[in-house]
Amino acid sequence: MKLFEQQELHIYNSLTKNKEMFQPINDGAVGMYVCGPTVYSNVHMGNCRTFLSFDLVFRYLKHLGYKVRYVRNITDAGHLENDGESGDDPILKKARIEQLEPMEVVQKYSVDFHNVMAQFNALPPSIEPTATGHIIEQIQIIEKIISEGYAYEKNGSVYFDVIKFNEDHEYGKLSGRQLEDMITNTRELAAQSEKNNPQDFALWKKAESQHIMRWPSPWSDGFPGWHLECTAMSTKYLGNKFDIHGGGMDLKFPHHECEIAQAEACNHESPVNVWMHANMLTLNGKKMAKSTGNNILPNELFSGENDVLSKAFAPTVAKFFMFQAHYRSILDFSNDALEASEKGYNRLMDAYRSLDAITAGDSSTHDISAWKQACYDAMNDDFNSPILIAQLFEAAKYINAYKEGSASITKEDLETLKQSMHDFIFDVLGLLDTAEGANGDGNQLSAAVELLIELRNQARANKDFATSDQIRDELLQHGIQLKDGKDGTTYSLN
Ligand code: AMP
Ligand code: ZN
Repeated sequence: MKLFEQQELHIYNSLTKNKEMFQPINDGAVGMYVCGPTVYSNVHMGNCRTFLSFDLVFRYLKHLGYKVRYVRNITDAGHLENDGESGDDPILKKARIEQLEPMEVVQKYSVDFHNVMAQFNALPPSIEPTATGHIIEQIQIIEKIISEGYAYEKNGSVYFDVIKFNEDHEYGKLSGRQLEDMITNTRELAAQSEKNNPQDFALWKKAESQHIMRWPSPWSDGFPGWHLECTAMSTKYLGNKFDIHGGGMDLKFPHHECEIAQAEACNHESPVNVWMHANMLTLNGKKMAKSTGNNILPNELFSGENDVLSKAFAPTVAKFFMFQAHYRSILDFSNDALEASEKGYNRLMDAYRSLDAITAGDSSTHDISAWKQACYDAMNDDFNSPILIAQLFEAAKYINAYKEGSASITKEDLETLKQSMHDFIFDVLGLLDTAEGANGDGNQLSAAVELLIELRNQARANKDFATSDQIRDELLQHGIQLKDGKDGTTYSLN
């Protein structure tokens, strides 16, 4: 019997605004789509929080025994600011500034994203499709929407007709917005646009002559609108109706609202059963964002190189900090809170490690089965990780009592405790025991690099420049840059 047959998972659905019992469309299998990063700069800790929230969802569904197909895209084209009215494609903008090919920008920041996710011990998705790899599918969807009568062409661009759609559908049902209110609020914009109505959004944009990323289409050489890629890739890999769609809260409108409209216009059914939205990570009470510069980068956190930090923090500690808040709560980032989480994390790991030193007795002081179920109850209640962590701390108290001899546990209960602690700490939360060095984080890495720096110094002292250059060059190939200064050699991770 699979675990999911014994546990009742409830998920908060942003569409119905209710916690609902989770029932996948196909027995035992779950299809989940999460909007991925727009790869024109390094991901910040806010982005990481959302991706780690869905890593927790993925991990728990797998732990329950579901076969999960987790699709998370890479937005490598088309994420226009202001729907292209006054904004540019940020990838193109960055390519211009850094004098790179747009695909070099995409490659650089995709690699960074994957490195960061690996450092956080997040599992890779089952499929990671790119927008540029699915232009044909996007064109086909536009053709279908036009043929259904919900889109129109203007000067080589194609727009979704929101007013027409709203006549027989409900535009705004996810975000709780009314089309009439939106129209009243944007009246003055109408004149500057080639759209029939400011609420209409681009499905295809004709490329200006300087726009390098362009593809042929029936309407013009151009590029697809941002919302379309997620409709194309989610339905291609998960079907016209799938179980879970996730993203950060800020994507609810317009992005996810537009995804619903596109899919309904095309397939005559709502694309997603459960919409999940992760809440924001803030810094000084304001949303972390790329555009405002109010953010912390993962590498700054791992190295301690940011004025708000007193020291470096291991990725797993940062993850523990984030999971001490529920994914639907706002979380404010601070050095003090991280230090407190580090202490808690160390306490939990100490308790976990001392499990092996406990000798079983004839009876159990605590009801271990009830404790284990309480851990599941926490996760079954919309992935409530802070309550789960509180239960793990409860177990740490038991463990200390067994060690001191003020309580006892039977052999069978001890096995259950060990297995469940392992399952929840490592499989479900995806934490790492830094003492085991499993995450290759700061300490182990720096010891290894320091050793290589020492060997390079010896080679230089012996005038063996071939060896000293080889050490420097090969480290650089692995993204580790040595810098020779007056106080010796330091290194940084690229
Ligand atoms: P982007 O690359 O801007 O499309 O963002 C990638 C993901 O990060 C999206 O799901 C966003 O909703 C999410 N996100 C952006 N800023 C934050 C933040 N401050 N806290 C949590 N998630 C965020
Ligand atoms: Zn998306």
